[in-house]
Amino acid sequence: SMASPALLMRVVASAYSVAEKAATIVRNVMAAGDLGIVEKTGANDLQTKADRLVQMSICASLARKFPKVTIIGEEELSADEVTEELIEDGHCEEILKKTCPAQYTGIKEEELVIWVDPLDGTKEYTEGLLDHVTVLIGIAYGGKAIAGVINQPYYNYEAGADAVLGRTIWGVLGIGAFGFQLTEAPAGKHIIVTTRSHSSTLVNDCISALNPDSVIRVGGAGNKVIQLIEGKASAYVFASPGCKKWDTCAPEAILHAVGGKITDIHGNSFQYNKEVKHMNSAGVLATLRNYDYYASRIPNTVKQSLVP
Ligand code: AMP
Ligand code: MG
Ligand code: MG
Repeated sequence: SMASPALLMRVVASAYSVAEKAATIVRNVMAAGDLGIVEKTGANDLQTKADRLVQMSICASLARKFPKVTIIGEEELSADEVTEELIEDGHCEEILKKTCPAQYTGIKEEELVIWVDPLDGTKEYTEGLLDHVTVLIGIAYGGKAIAGVINQPYYNYEAGADAVLGRTIWGVLGIGAFGFQLTEAPAGKHIIVTTRSHSSTLVNDCISALNPDSVIRVGGAGNKVIQLIEGKASAYVFASPGCKKWDTCAPEAILHAVGGKITDIHGNSFQYNKEVKHMNSAGVLATLRNYDYYASRIPNTVKQSLVP
């Protein structure tokens, strides 16, 4: 008989199904109409019932299957018992059929860190900008983002009743990324995607210095990396603290799996070991192609304002 699949592949296959369950919760909470909005640090830092339920669902489901893996989620886990209806124990068979890259076949549970953003783009979710929302499950080993799942619960929501609602994108370094059509941004155009609800003078000054042809302002770190891999934007530029490790881990793994690059505004790579501080204090710079073009044009004044 075949040897059982490598742990990494089993974790990704489970994360895929767990993220689909999460998407159902995100849609159900919105459909029920009571978002239960709580301010965390302020009016631009919100938590809804969906953030809370999905956090519980993802963390409890993965912890049950992989008890020795470290799981770090954005939301404080409530003391409430996790009800059985929040648990997902399925997995994606198609992922289990892929060959695990040789350098990852020996990974043990204790060596993995899973970074969970149960709902990325909460501000936009509360404002009805539903396709900005993603569920992010990033998997790190040796401090590096090596695999990730991005679910977009409202993909296609304006495409009509015949369109399939929602999608799941997944990727592993050395295998590639799936669930979307990799597309290049228009050649010779500088299209920058950035924050919609967390702008500042520094954020805007940095974008102006890059002399863009156009600027797309949308919510979510997951959503912005999707804009890069689908050719809607050529660079994701965010010269501000605010983004955390759970925002970047899954998007980073998927972007790197297709040959892109994501760093802070200085060009430092992100670390995802369990002891790392959560805040990406020195912002975000990401591209599918031509990273050096954008990195070389970030003003020194902007860099000096953002301490890693
Ligand atoms: P955005 O591009 O504004 O959607 O931000 C991407 C991610 O970083 C989201 O999860 C935001 O909640 C988070 N984020 C960015 N800036 C801030 C901030 N100033 N305060 C709280 N969260 C932030
Ligand atoms: Mg987020
Ligand atoms: Mg979130």
